[in-house]
Amino acid sequence: MPFDDPREFLACLEEEGDLVRVTSPVDVRYEIAAYIRKTSDEQGPALLFERVEGFDIPAVGGLFAARRRVLRALEYAPGEAFDRFHEGIHSPIDPVLTDRGPCQEVVYEGDEVDLTRLPIPTYCEQDGGAFITHGVQISKDTETGGKNAGIYRMQRKGRNRLGVLSNIHQHLGLQINKAERRGEALEVAIAQGVDPVIMLATQVKAAYGVDELTLAGGLRGKPVEVVRCRTVDLEVPATSEIVIEGRFLPHVREEEGPLGEFSGYYGPGGQRPVVEVSAVTHRRSPIFHAGLTGVPMTENHFLKQIPNEVTVLRDLSAKFPEVKAVHFPASGCSEYHCYISMTPRYKGQPRNVILAALGSAKRPKLVVVVDEDIDIFDDVKVLWAVSTRMQADRDVIIVPAAGGGPLDPSAPEPNLSAMMGIDATRPFGQEFPDVPEVPGVENVPDLLTLARQRGITAGP
Ligand code: MN
Repeated sequence: MPFDDPREFLACLEEEGDLVRVTSPVDVRYEIAAYIRKTSDEQGPALLFERVEGFDIPAVGGLFAARRRVLRALEYAPGEAFDRFHEGIHSPIDPVLTDRGPCQEVVYEGDEVDLTRLPIPTYCEQDGGAFITHGVQISKDTETGGKNAGIYRMQRKGRNRLGVLSNIHQHLGLQINKAERRGEALEVAIAQGVDPVIMLATQVKAAYGVDELTLAGGLRGKPVEVVRCRTVDLEVPATSEIVIEGRFLPHVREEEGPLGEFSGYYGPGGQRPVVEVSAVTHRRSPIFHAGLTGVPMTENHFLKQIPNEVTVLRDLSAKFPEVKAVHFPASGCSEYHCYISMTPRYKGQPRNVILAALGSAKRPKLVVVVDEDIDIFDDVKVLWAVSTRMQADRDVIIVPAAGGGPLDPSAPEPNLSAMMGIDATRPFGQEFPDVPEVPGVENVPDLLTLARQRGITAGP
């Protein structure tokens, strides 16, 4: 059964020993982030900060700081994640409207709005301020009505303003741009603390105009219940902890950033769009959801890894059924590097696959294609294939200055990146040495168990 409520997920994690309550007071500046950093580095538990100094609202963090919790949220066994995620997003289910949602139990409108009451963390030393990083921004195209739900970073700017980073490659950036060309404000509702499956659904690179909440319905096998907002013409998940309603002010730009980002570096500050907040609603006794990104792996990287992989696998397998698997490795920040395994059917096909992957909605900067015998979820095996099946003058494609590389510090200018493809499959149709195999390995007993039984400390 899907979790209908973020609190059901927290309760489930606690029961299974994968959530720790932090009962000592924590500082909203750096200390929440420090805990999340540590649990990310150790693949540790999710954290519930019961007492945030100076606030009467508790916070959770590190919800997705281990892959097992992404699978737990989806209720998948490890081996079935790809197939089931793929099936889920291909069977979208529309949200259903309900009259009353707990997310509107408490309502602040107009002058009562005060974002400084929320325990919004400051994560890293050079960050420009306090950031909401796990808010789902819901909005619709002012021309077509096409909806979007995505996670974009937001910097608190006083009691009722937020600065937002969304570039033109992203759906929200495009909606802002289209509204501004008509001289209109773009309404937005930010749902904070939602069912974890909704968070994962927002990470799928859906076509423009596809409502990611319908994908969440597909993944859940059950529609997301939504309620109408109070001050904007939008609907939000009924069980959200906190909802912030407002409008992007047309053509207004203010300084936003920097923020420690998924690239593992600070994403620079700049003049960015601004939301003027018209209402804050929340549940009785709400829980704020914090989220840290930074040097991989963090919860942000785990959150987008499976959706990115399924997005590209879906694109590619429609054109190339020979493609077996796609992986966005931690070493590429779950974003910049894409590994693909396949059994080429004709000469040159890996190069077609490279070009399609570079041109996919994810725009990776490096694509490596390997044969099906290579485990693409293991960097060592992929680099072994590169070292032994690739010749640089023959097997490398470089595309200069294409759109991509969000927040990549090596990019010559923002969102512009050279792209590279490496064909590390065996040369097609040519003799190539076999990989040596030792017969009978599967018959050897578990040696680590044997060693432990004999009191020997073995293993890595
Ligand atoms: Mn979208």
